[in-house]
Amino acid sequence: MRHASVEACLVPSGHRESRSPALVSLVMVSLPQLLREVRDCALCANHLPLGARPILQFHPAARVLIAGQAPGRKTHASGVPFDDASGDRLRDWLGISRDTFYDPKCVAILPMGFCYPGTGRSGDLPPRPECAPAWREKLLDRLNNLKLTLVIGDYAQEYHLPDAKGTVTSRVQAWKKYWPLVVPLPHPSPRNNIWLRRNPWFESELLPALRERLSDVLA
Ligand code: SF4
Repeated sequence: MRHASVEACLVPSGHRESRSPALVSLVMVSLPQLLREVRDCALCANHLPLGARPILQFHPAARVLIAGQAPGRKTHASGVPFDDASGDRLRDWLGISRDTFYDPKCVAILPMGFCYPGTGRSGDLPPRPECAPAWREKLLDRLNNLKLTLVIGDYAQEYHLPDAKGTVTSRVQAWKKYWPLVVPLPHPSPRNNIWLRRNPWFESELLPALRERLSDVLA
């Protein structure tokens, strides 16, 4: 996992407007310190079957944010986000190379839960509920160069599109409503092959537009 190489002193989420400069100086948190705290986090380790191993990709210069669900077992083992069949499909959807995908100055990857949550009867368990309140706003606040957010699956869409009621399908069908800053996507898991067959407009309409947008954003 690559670490951010710049010092960025910023104020915690939600308080920037109301604090005096003197108070701001007291609460400033450096980005390297924040990233160390995230990577050392064991807040919900008691609930994680393989223990805490936060997996994210972050640099404040990133132009694209991928907001996903949580690492799977294979990703937990490798420590590399989307280093699996879902990642291969996602890169194909986006039309970008592995080099670009794993360049943190281009793409930030922040799942709703940073650690593998375990597996239930019908697939991976939901992201741990402790994670987003602990870290998400603090990290999102540092993405000051963001041009495009890809919101993958139900948990990330409930967080990033709180007013968008309905299902993943209805949100993705309404993609033009959020364009060009936010694009809701289904999970690229091979488990979603049936969804892709039932929704051919996704590959024929949304993906070509998304590839063109990414090409502009990452140029
Ligand atoms: S899932 Fe999030 S809150 Fe839980 S241990 Fe990992 S980084 Fe910490």
